[in-house]
Amino acid sequence: MIDLDGYRVLVTGGGRGIGAACCRLFAEVGAAVCVHYRNREGAAGSVLESLRTSANQPHFKVAADLSEPPGADAVLDAIGRTWGRLDCLVNNAGIWVRNPLTELDPQLLNETWALNARAVFLCSAAAVPFLEQSVDGSIVNIGSTAGQRGEAMYSPYAASKGALIAATKSWSSELAPRIRVNCVAPGWVDTELSAEAFAEGGREAIEETIPLGRVASPVDIAGPVVFLASQLARHVTGEVLNVNGGSVLAG
Ligand code: NAD
Repeated sequence: MIDLDGYRVLVTGGGRGIGAACCRLFAEVGAAVCVHYRNREGAAGSVLESLRTSANQPHFKVAADLSEPPGADAVLDAIGRTWGRLDCLVNNAGIWVRNPLTELDPQLLNETWALNARAVFLCSAAAVPFLEQSVDGSIVNIGSTAGQRGEAMYSPYAASKGALIAATKSWSSELAPRIRVNCVAPGWVDTELSAEAFAEGGREAIEETIPLGRVASPVDIAGPVVFLASQLARHVTGEVLNVNGGSVLAG
């Protein structure tokens, strides 16, 4: 039902986890994919090799550290050189770092903000000229349940994800009608980011708090991302789609 044949999609942090699942699902429904990664070239190469081949537009990968401002330009320059157009930007790269307010580490605060928020602004700004070349351009920001209800001991992370909700809503008006902007807000997902929290019995305790009874797999998140990028969601913009198995959304 979803056919993204001819679409060109950039997924930041596409070398593993949720990003890799997005890359695979986009390719499965016909899109050409740019797999952005930071430094694990082998992992990004494996993702690239696993992608269903699209008819006329080869997939490709590009490396950049997005926590530094030139990173966004480097990635979008590669999009410009290779495709000259973009149909969907998935702002997925992110870090989740413990940083309690009473022991606030300013360096970690900066690192979290630089990647989870500033890089999303910089990538999105640099992507707009290419998204404007599309007849169905969209941005999908990967937020978090933490961005809505907060997260004790992780307030810099929660605040960075809250910023993405505000940015999503702002840009959805600012960039209309050419570009739709939405946010997917996952709860717990089984990836490297959360592996430590799941260790030593943590996973069972977490799953007890999830009405659907399990932690999401990366592909559980990729499905809604691909939906929002597709024509099935052509009248959806400024939306935050919670994908969390029914976990409490407020309080
Ligand atoms: P992950 O750790 O597997 O992937 C994170 C990705 O970000 C990796 O591809 C990594 O290369 C990239 N990245 C990290 N630092 C970077 C940098 N400096 N420059 C460029 N790229 C960098 O984690 P994931 O769970 O797949 O996370 C993907 C997104 O989903 C993140 O934005 C995260 O906040 C969000 N999220 C995850 C969960 C969860 O439980 N796993 C829950 C809610 C939201």
